[in-house]
Amino acid sequence: MPNNKEIKQILSILEDTYQGSASALKFDSVFQLMVAVILSAQTNDNQVNKITAELFHQYPDAAAFAQLTPEELEPLISSCGLYKNKAKNIVAASKIIQEQYGGEVPHTKEQLTALPGVGGKTANVILAVGFGIPALAVDTHVFRVANRLGLAHTKTPEQTEAALCALIPKEKWADAHHWLIWHGRKICAARHPDCESCPLQGLCEYRQQHSKTLPKAQ
Ligand code: SF4
Repeated sequence: MPNNKEIKQILSILEDTYQGSASALKFDSVFQLMVAVILSAQTNDNQVNKITAELFHQYPDAAAFAQLTPEELEPLISSCGLYKNKAKNIVAASKIIQEQYGGEVPHTKEQLTALPGVGGKTANVILAVGFGIPALAVDTHVFRVANRLGLAHTKTPEQTEAALCALIPKEKWADAHHWLIWHGRKICAARHPDCESCPLQGLCEYRQQHSKTLPKAQ
């Protein structure tokens, strides 16, 4: 595990490298963000943006989605993985938001995770990105990069969230989520991390443990 000084250095390098990074998903409201995040499970953000460009044009808000049946929504999102389940959840969540919250997405984790299709990670993205409320969502990139760097030694996203929140100042939780995602996308890929190009290689636990087995850069 990196010591406190090394943890500060890791976070500082991540911040310098990915400062200003944001969600790759496109949306114009918290409701649209929620739909986009639900669609993004097992589907990449570019594909989600292609779907939502037309979808949000036709159905911009909870009131419009609440009028749909899952069967009507399915063909509009069928290029997503798990689209039948997503259609069912999005329509059900839209009806609840329309009927119980006057069309506005609620802003507590408890209320959010009570919506169909909204788990802890999605709720944290909505809180942080949609409402600016401190939360640190752990997706597959955040989980992998945090554990490789030694910022966490965890087996579940929930444990990773708790470990990172204990290390990172609250006001940086939302930004740290983006830093770790972008580092996972650009350099620390799941199968072939590009450690030779990584600004964190001197501080990375995984790099230290695997330096003898990692291929040298060409
Ligand atoms: S040194 Fe390698 S494993 Fe460590 S964070 Fe960088 S790319 Fe990932």
